[in-house]
Parts: sequence; C-alpha cells; structure tokens
Amino acid sequence: MDASSYCAGSGTGGDRSRPEPAADPGPDASPRAECVLCREPTEYPESVKGITLCPVCEWQEAQRTACSG
Ligand SMILES: [Zn+2]
Repeated sequence: MDASSYCAGSGTGGDRSRPEPAADPGPDASPRAECVLCREPTEYPESVKGITLCPVCEWQEAQRTACSG
C-alpha cells in the first residue's frame, strides 16, 4: 500500500466526493436566543419570547422541578 498514490487518485474516477451542505441554510443560520442563566446559545430561535434556557440549564431546571415537592 502506498499512501501517496491513494491521496493523489484524482483521475481514477472511482472516488466518492462527499457533498458539502453549504447551500442549505440550516437551523444554525438563524440567530439563537441566549440562555438567561449562563448566556450560552440555546436551541431556540431569537424570536422565541419568554425565558430561554440552554440544554444544560434546562436539564438542571427540570431536575430541580422534579425534586421539589
Ligand atoms: Zn444555560
């Protein structure tokens, strides 16, 4: 096996090129709301009203709520 011949195989016609998802403006294109606790970007868009929590703080809040009472 020769590594250099493997990398230089542009003319073999048998290599698969992975398509780059650059043309698709995914959910990351929209600005995210900040977490009200740690100011980390949340999974929610900026247009969401009210308190937005990042996954970490959201989980902690859920734990706190579950333990209360
Ligand atoms: Zn947070």
